[in-house]
Amino acid sequence: MPSASAPYTRKYAHTQSRGHEGLVTCGYCGRQVPRYKTFIKHRGFRITDPIILQAVDRSQMHFFSQKMYVCPSCARSHNIVERGRSVRKKHLNR
Ligand SMILES: [Zn+2]
Repeated sequence: MPSASAPYTRKYAHTQSRGHEGLVTCGYCGRQVPRYKTFIKHRGFRITDPIILQAVDRSQMHFFSQKMYVCPSCARSHNIVERGRSVRKKHLNR
């Protein structure tokens, strides 16, 4: 059993097996982070109205959502991922 369990699985899937990995800029703090560590968030609005969805060409849909990379620390503070529950902090009972 691991001492601390996160409610999500943090998977660091490397983009390259060797060599320099691409750095991306975090969309919140602007920090340069390796891409395999980031969380991908889609910024923009989502069309839920079916009438508008029919009128809009599907190939134009990428204009509405922008891909954004979020570093692990910003992902925690912006509630993209849940905070890991550490065993040491269990007594705090938040
Ligand atoms: Zn960040």
